[in-house]
Amino acid sequence: MHRLNRPIFAEEHEAFREQVRRFCDKEIAPFHSQWEEAHQVPAAVWRKAGEAGLLCCWLPEEEGGPGGDLRFDIVVAEELARIGATGPGFNLHSCVVAPYIAHYGSPSLKAEVLPRMVSGDCVGAIAMTEPGAGSDLAGIRTRATWADEHWVINGQKTFITNGVNADVVVVAAKTDLDKGAQGVSLFAVPTSSPGFSRGRNLQKIGQHAQDTAELYFDQVRVPATHLLGELNQGFRYMMRELPLERLCISFNCQARAEAVFGWTQTYVKERKAFGKRIADFQNTRFKLAAVWADLQAGRALCDSLIERQLYQSLDSVSASAGKLWHSEMLGRVTDECLQLFGGYGYMHEYPVARAYTDARIERIYAGTSEIMKEVIARSICDESRR
Ligand SMILES: Cc1cc2nc3c(=O)[nH]c(=O)nc-3n(C[C@H](O)[C@H](O)[C@H](O)COP(=O)(O)OP(=O)(O)OC[C@H]3O[C@@H](n4cnc5c(N)ncnc54)[C@H](O)[C@@H]3O)c2cc1C
Repeated sequence: MHRLNRPIFAEEHEAFREQVRRFCDKEIAPFHSQWEEAHQVPAAVWRKAGEAGLLCCWLPEEEGGPGGDLRFDIVVAEELARIGATGPGFNLHSCVVAPYIAHYGSPSLKAEVLPRMVSGDCVGAIAMTEPGAGSDLAGIRTRATWADEHWVINGQKTFITNGVNADVVVVAAKTDLDKGAQGVSLFAVPTSSPGFSRGRNLQKIGQHAQDTAELYFDQVRVPATHLLGELNQGFRYMMRELPLERLCISFNCQARAEAVFGWTQTYVKERKAFGKRIADFQNTRFKLAAVWADLQAGRALCDSLIERQLYQSLDSVSASAGKLWHSEMLGRVTDECLQLFGGYGYMHEYPVARAYTDARIERIYAGTSEIMKEVIARSICDESRR
């Protein structure tokens, strides 16, 4: 595939890419199908990734990080996408969970957790969703009350990525029942805390190597230093951090769509029907041309959003539009490409089949496509929210 020049990356990022690629080919690709059967990535892989410098690359040295920037974490995500590895939840750990702790954590919490997130000894998860509240997060029922100099947390979360492997969970809980969204606070909860337990590792239609769990909190006590930021400001912090989470979906979807296109391009040149290559049918050629056009547009949008994030100017509406577009685009691309594989495209052993089922969730988590449209539409149609 003809690649667009990507000026957002410097030489140091491309050198790092070579290193990450070697790691992925040696430590991830040969084992990923085993992890799919186990529905989990082993803890040792997290530590190997930490040793290789693949976790929390953006975290400043004074916080215990390697002092890189977000682009190094994007390289890690893109290289995992290249081999179709959706199991390791490195991106969520590094770019979604770690920022909450780094931006809002107390000095003692940061010192306790962040260096261990960098080394892979402490895996991070974020728990907002509950059985009764997903899109409508103001409706969460998990509660935190102050008693005996501790926050005491009670409640249940579901669909939590990295939930089985997690050592620390950023938990959204109600701290003022009368204030709706303004009564939500965030806490960093070690999973070693008495009263914390995990439910099932949930069986999904895709992303089989990714652990996704139910979490239970029964009188879980955490010290005041584990409150993130200020009391009742949790919703404000989530709104501040969500553009980056949505950007993560964009760059992951874009990289995975490019990988699927590459596999398809190879396949249609090898496979024959009616004495011709599949690549010789006009339908194939036009489908791939249309996918390629999508990929070019997606790459330009994706890199411009990354650039805006690097300059701290990525707003919620633009990130939501990106999340909407890239997740829908990945859905289209995996569907069109799978079709070109014929029956083999439906076989689990073919990466395109896994990519197809792996892709479906991208339109749902981190805010559904419908919620993304709501966010965008409000800025278009409601004067006060522009
Ligand atoms: C594999 C997986 C991993 C996940 N990882 C995490 C995680 O790590 N942490 C976490 O906290 N959560 C996680 N989630 C949860 C995910 O973010 C939620 O599932 C998602 O936000 C949707 O919430 P819901 O499932 O409750 O659906 P609902 O909110 O019940 O929505 C159902 C349907 O109604 C639509 N809808 C809802 N409100 C509106 C509206 N205002 N206008 C129009 N349509 C609307 C939705 O778009 C959807 O189509 C994960 C989910 C999955 C499946």
